[in-house]
Amino acid sequence: MDAIVKNFPAVPAADGRPSQKEAEDAVRVLLRWAGDDPAREGLLDTPARVAKAYKELFSGYDLAAEDVLGRTFEEVGGYDDIVLVKDIPFFSHCEHHMVPIIGKAHVAYLPAGKVLGLSKIARVVDIFGRRLQTQETMTAQIAKAIDDTLQPRGVAVMIEAEHMCMAMRGVQKQGSTTLTTTFTGVFKTEPAEQARFMTMLRGFK
Ligand SMILES: [Zn+2]
Repeated sequence: MDAIVKNFPAVPAADGRPSQKEAEDAVRVLLRWAGDDPAREGLLDTPARVAKAYKELFSGYDLAAEDVLGRTFEEVGGYDDIVLVKDIPFFSHCEHHMVPIIGKAHVAYLPAGKVLGLSKIARVVDIFGRRLQTQETMTAQIAKAIDDTLQPRGVAVMIEAEHMCMAMRGVQKQGSTTLTTTFTGVFKTEPAEQARFMTMLRGFK
């Protein structure tokens, strides 16, 4: 306990985050907690590697969806039907155990005169994926970001994912998939549009 208090001073670094050294010290504490010896040769560089990996795995905290989606959109000559981007792979981490969530997102919207660059949708999925998450929150966040920025007639998001915290620990249910959906606008109010989204998803499989 003393070591933990010493390694985690009450006053964080100037930018509000711990320093690289503090992060590495924290990894050393966890290595000892797990029962290993951070001083053994194979683990010497591990704290630095873990800190670096965390920077990448949790880079979503440094990005806002609005920055990616931007304020300008492409005008489309009369296209007003569903745009569906399917099977966007993502990696996230559950906020309860900090263990991976591996899944795919399917994102659709009904344009109201404007469309997004298709790669931007995948980047939004990435931004929210690279944070500590629950699948429910992530699904809603993606839908809300697109809804707020683009203001389409509706947004539909489905995420299917496997939670490693379920596969690796506790109940150990491997291969089980969790499905979550969020609908806004006409996807919420008109069952026919929602059904069309589902049919399009199935149709491509
Ligand atoms: Zn978990």
